[in-house]
Amino acid sequence: MNLDSMDLLIIEDNPGDVVLAKEILSQVERPVSIRVAEDGETALSMLDEHLPNMVLLDLNLPRISGQDVLRAIRENPKSHAGPVIVFSTSDAERDVVAAYDGGANCYITKPVDLDRFFKVVRSIENFWLDVVRLPAS
Ligand SMILES: [Mg+2]
Repeated sequence: MNLDSMDLLIIEDNPGDVVLAKEILSQVERPVSIRVAEDGETALSMLDEHLPNMVLLDLNLPRISGQDVLRAIRENPKSHAGPVIVFSTSDAERDVVAAYDGGANCYITKPVDLDRFFKVVRSIENFWLDVVRLPAS
């Protein structure tokens, strides 16, 4: 990847998932700065203040849904190009379709199994932080 450090915004209302994702991502060699928004409204005001390099987005969120957050990100000229990774427990086809329609860069169903959760977050890290080239924020 082309960036020295990575600025990630996790939009997630499940504290357990936040702790796990942070724990896994903190083991990366590249410095990753992680901020967390626990609901859609907070996420949008955080995005307004500071643009991260990448967003990890849950769909089922209090106040403003993940789909609406995604729409707002894509409608904002400032944030429209940044990668958004949807990370949701839903494996409903309509959510998958709506997320891609809304401009998600990928859709990942959050694994229930801890081992699998670990592997999936690791592969997000490998691909999006190490392989992919992102625009500088
Ligand atoms: Mg949720």
